[in-house]
Amino acid sequence: MVSLSGLSPVKSRRVKEEAAALAAKLTESSVALAPTDLEAARRQAATARRVRLRFNVRPGPELKRFTCRGCKSLIVPGVNARVRVGRGKQKALRITCLECGRVNRKILGTP
Ligand SMILES: [Zn+2]
Repeated sequence: MVSLSGLSPVKSRRVKEEAAALAAKLTESSVALAPTDLEAARRQAATARRVRLRFNVRPGPELKRFTCRGCKSLIVPGVNARVRVGRGKQKALRITCLECGRVNRKILGTP
């Protein structure tokens, strides 16, 4: 568990960059941890989210897909999320969160 109390709330650019790097690292390791220990992974993802909220940094597109838009918890395909390819005109990935049941859609760009 990473303590947030030691971090300065001053939002200089350097601090923000460090916070973004820390949050990205936490999310990455929580995704890696999810298949073996989902509880610990979820706690780690929650910490990453708190870091992001505190320093007002956005997750990159690579990390965004691991967060449910409904319950904001960590979702990892094959662990607590189901991924389906949507049929129809608009090609999209449907990532269903098995925690709250929300379907997170990801539009696939036309090739
Ligand atoms: Zn959810």
